[in-house]
Amino acid sequence: MTEKTCTKCSGLKALSDFPKRKSSADGRRNECTACTRASKLEWDSQNRDKIRTYHIRWSTREGGNYKEVVRRANKSSYQRNPEMHKEYYRIWYRNNKDKAAIASKEWRERIGREYFRTKRAENSENINARNRLNYKADPGKNQAKTRAYQAKKSQALPLWVGDVELDKIKEFYRIAAVLSKVTGMRYHVDHYYPLNGTTVSGLHVPENLQIIPAATNLSKRNKHPDDFEVLENT
Ligand SMILES: [Zn+2]
Repeated sequence: MTEKTCTKCSGLKALSDFPKRKSSADGRRNECTACTRASKLEWDSQNRDKIRTYHIRWSTREGGNYKEVVRRANKSSYQRNPEMHKEYYRIWYRNNKDKAAIASKEWRERIGREYFRTKRAENSENINARNRLNYKADPGKNQAKTRAYQAKKSQALPLWVGDVELDKIKEFYRIAAVLSKVTGMRYHVDHYYPLNGTTVSGLHVPENLQIIPAATNLSKRNKHPDDFEVLENT
């Protein structure tokens, strides 16, 4: 049997659309995933006090306030299984680019500025000297490196960015370098959502990159892509 009918919405759905439950004969619950999620949200919204009491009891047992305990639990879970968490964030980012842009902007305004000002002061000498030496060997690769460093500095390179993403990012810069050489026009790798935008902040990840002629990039500066498109059409 690969399908069954949901007892709540009566929809005929694939078995994989039902949450797992070991004690059932077919190993799945009788309410589909969508219905289970909806009932949980409804239950949560009607039982806020109960949930709060439960959270307080749990965090007291773990020795801390709720936020701290959650942070600690997340951290140790991340250390146990970093790949799972990175994959989760990757998927979340793909589906919530707008939210991520706003959240990272907020984070930077709250904490980032001071932290990175100190870091920048400590590092600028070394970085500049090394960049000058490396640049000529492989402009595309070295631009990607410089950009990744700058992005990290402004916290735009999230934890879930692994080797696969870094390779994809390098590829963008290589293609831009090759395009510039072949066409004789300058091409830049552009962040669709600017890293330090006025209303949102994008991330330095493949999904937020595009290759565009340098002239367009310079006129775009740190504008939000929506403003940018309006400007282009006028
Ligand atoms: Zn259902």
